[in-house]
Amino acid sequence: MIIILRPEITPHSPEYRMLMDYLTNKPGIQTRLHQETGTLQTLTEVYLIGNTAALDKDEIENMPAVERVVRVSEEYRILGRHHDDRRPTGFDYNGVLFSQDSLNVFAGLCAVDTPEHVERMMKALRDHGQVCTRMGAYKPRTNPYSFQGHGRQCLPWVFELAGRYGIKVIAMEITHDSHLDEIRSALEQTGRPTGILIQIGTRNTQNFELLKIVGRQREFPVLLKRGFGITLEESLNAAEYLASEGNSRIIFGLRGMKTNMGDPHRNFVDFAHVPVIKRLTRMPICIDPSHSVGTRDRAPDGMLDLMHVTAQGVVAGANMVLVDFHPEPSRALVDGPQALTLEELPWFLEDVALAREAYEKRRLLCERHAGAHRL
Ligand code: PEP
Ligand code: MN
Repeated sequence: MIIILRPEITPHSPEYRMLMDYLTNKPGIQTRLHQETGTLQTLTEVYLIGNTAALDKDEIENMPAVERVVRVSEEYRILGRHHDDRRPTGFDYNGVLFSQDSLNVFAGLCAVDTPEHVERMMKALRDHGQVCTRMGAYKPRTNPYSFQGHGRQCLPWVFELAGRYGIKVIAMEITHDSHLDEIRSALEQTGRPTGILIQIGTRNTQNFELLKIVGRQREFPVLLKRGFGITLEESLNAAEYLASEGNSRIIFGLRGMKTNMGDPHRNFVDFAHVPVIKRLTRMPICIDPSHSVGTRDRAPDGMLDLMHVTAQGVVAGANMVLVDFHPEPSRALVDGPQALTLEELPWFLEDVALAREAYEKRRLLCERHAGAHRL
């Protein structure tokens, strides 16, 4: 059960004390306080764990501190979309809105290599009105002899360049909790020129200790990728791990599943799950066409498979696109063969905008028809 408090109630209010006294008298009930600071208000919620079936929802709802009570019957207590659940679906971070209704493109380098390439990428993004990017500093590689990323050493100059080109949010994968401190101190050292969306990659989706540590910090929101060889339910539970530790600013990323049925793509594209995850949870959904498709193959209509699947995800309502670009793909240190070029950036952005327009029109169409049929 989740108790949503009235906006003006804080843990110091007498009404809050009264609610807590009431709850401590109930046997087998534990409480956990959760506060979400938004631009307009701070949302305070009390999660109840234990024998909540015995509690009287109406009685709690009538207490002065309480705005609303949500009974959590399904899975994913914090992130789930429960019956009667009108809680918001998103968050603001560094001036960028992430929700189940917004759309942000994160085009950038799979792996940071040279300052020149990073600068050319960021300049192209700025010239096309983009304020988000992806930059991999810590790369989890299949082969131990492959380039592992420049790590903390590149962070200061990457962040400075981001500041110079108006990049507000960088999606950056971490593979160890010490990377959080490295990112924090590089931000500090450079005067916080940009924001970081911490990415947890598909190889770490079930690294529970990493999830707990990342979930305990509230400074950075998190992009959690779906595990490539586990069920959707297992991956959504991994997201719930982050939330249960206190950080519910989470975006869930689809990046394809590892199965030979996916051939000839690198992974089996799973963007049909965009609306499914929106139904199950309140997380914004990201699609990663690059790591799903993994090639620059083209259909007979002239369009890259990469652009086709991106459009498919966006038409289905995706909220974020994470995509590999490189100024000189043949010189990229990681994943060059799947990178789009800077010349393709305006084409890609326009294609995304077209798909988004189609999604918005489909929503209007749905309102007309579903309204008429009272769905
Ligand atoms: C990446 O985005 O660079 C990456 C390694 O992705 P994934 O975890 O989906 O393989
Ligand atoms: Mn990659």
